Amino acid sequence: MARRDYYIVLGVSRTVSQEDLKRAFRGLALQYHPDRNPDDPDATRRFREISEAYQVLSDPEQRARYDKLGPLFRMDGRPPTPEDLNAFVADALAGLFGRRRPGDKGEDLKYTLTVTLEEAGLGTHKEIELRRRVPCTRCEATGAEPGVGRSPCPACEGSGKSQARRLFRSECPRCDGRGFLVVEKCKRCEGAGVRDDTERFRVRVPAGVATGTKLKLRGKGSFPRGDGPPGDLVVLMDVEDHALFRRRGADLFLEAPLTYAEATLGTELTVPTLDGQTRIRVPAGSPSGKIFRLSGRGLHQDRGKPGDLHVKVVVEVPTNLSPAARRALDALQAALPAQAHPGRSAWDAALLGRSPPVSAADA
Ligand SMILES: [Zn+2]
Ligand SMILES: [Zn+2]
Repeated sequence: MARRDYYIVLGVSRTVSQEDLKRAFRGLALQYHPDRNPDDPDATRRFREISEAYQVLSDPEQRARYDKLGPLFRMDGRPPTPEDLNAFVADALAGLFGRRRPGDKGEDLKYTLTVTLEEAGLGTHKEIELRRRVPCTRCEATGAEPGVGRSPCPACEGSGKSQARRLFRSECPRCDGRGFLVVEKCKRCEGAGVRDDTERFRVRVPAGVATGTKLKLRGKGSFPRGDGPPGDLVVLMDVEDHALFRRRGADLFLEAPLTYAEATLGTELTVPTLDGQTRIRVPAGSPSGKIFRLSGRGLHQDRGKPGDLHVKVVVEVPTNLSPAARRALDALQAALPAQAHPGRSAWDAALLGRSPPVSAADA
């Protein structure tokens, strides 16, 4: 049999856009679909022709080859198998007939979950509540009112199997393979077979999550109409800022104020951590800005080592001095030898050794 030109088959020009091509194909597919033309072999043949033409022309690479080779063109040197074509067309036509293909997954849902830094750092469990589409229990997801809502499908006599040989489905097209028709809709779901319900889930928040971390809960999204599996629930993490800690990856940063005397003489300092408090030993003569690293006291991580806690001590310069305190500090200052402030001593020495600044009048 001589093959007809693909463009002529689809009734489009050789410069047709992909969008118009798709529109033309869908229109013809609706017209000649075997389910709509049972027992009409001509329609089936035409439908295959349309499908093959669309399969080639909708693929830019194949279309370019076809434009070059014309009637000599064969996909991979041979015509497509019926299985290839069926799979391709089923995809291209999904949803065209106003019903989802059986097996289509339900809608994925999103939920933003806010946790504290402590919860993110140690891991936790959270209870969340969300609305999702679930199967109606009253009608067992059939959409038919229990007892009175079903009537055996006359087309397949209740078997659910197609009586005629079909190109695309072996189940009965009239009842979608269910074997019955809904004659009275379920009062609870109004015939949808699914309904919105509020559900509670316990979500395990693994240690180490950050703002933007996504947790996927398989099957906790909405159920589809029909017999497909439920979608997934994507939980988007939002970790609150903390009053004391700053975070970088799994490491935590903290500033701890230290008195002048503590920094000079040394001290034991109590510092907060994610899970309570700990004490660090600040040795005598610790300069302001010195960082103490507490290994493993940062955020825990579900996989991998915990981070560190970096404690930066900052000397708080005394203010609001009483006259007595002022006198005591003056006395201290006088009592301290030059070696007590090596930096300041070097500074003074350098300045004294230099010639005085040049005044503007000399320039
Ligand atoms: Zn129902
Ligand atoms: Zn049927």
